[in-house]
Amino acid sequence: MIIQCCKCKKIRHERKWIRVLLDGLDGPVSHTYCPVCYREFAAQIANEFKGRGPENSRFYDLAGAASPSA
Ligand SMILES: [Zn+2]
Repeated sequence: MIIQCCKCKKIRHERKWIRVLLDGLDGPVSHTYCPVCYREFAAQIANEFKGRGPENSRFYDLAGAASPSA
């Protein structure tokens, strides 16, 4: 199983994320976020839900941001 970042298209190889220049990957591919893109994604989500109330606090947690009351 190949793990590929759906945003930057890097693939996980052992414990590293590397850029591949192949057009097609050989075998089944599972899409996820690499740590860099995940942080961007989480920050986006947190921004989107900022000010919408405490019921959205899980999105703040996702981004590792401060609590909504702060
Ligand atoms: Zn990525």
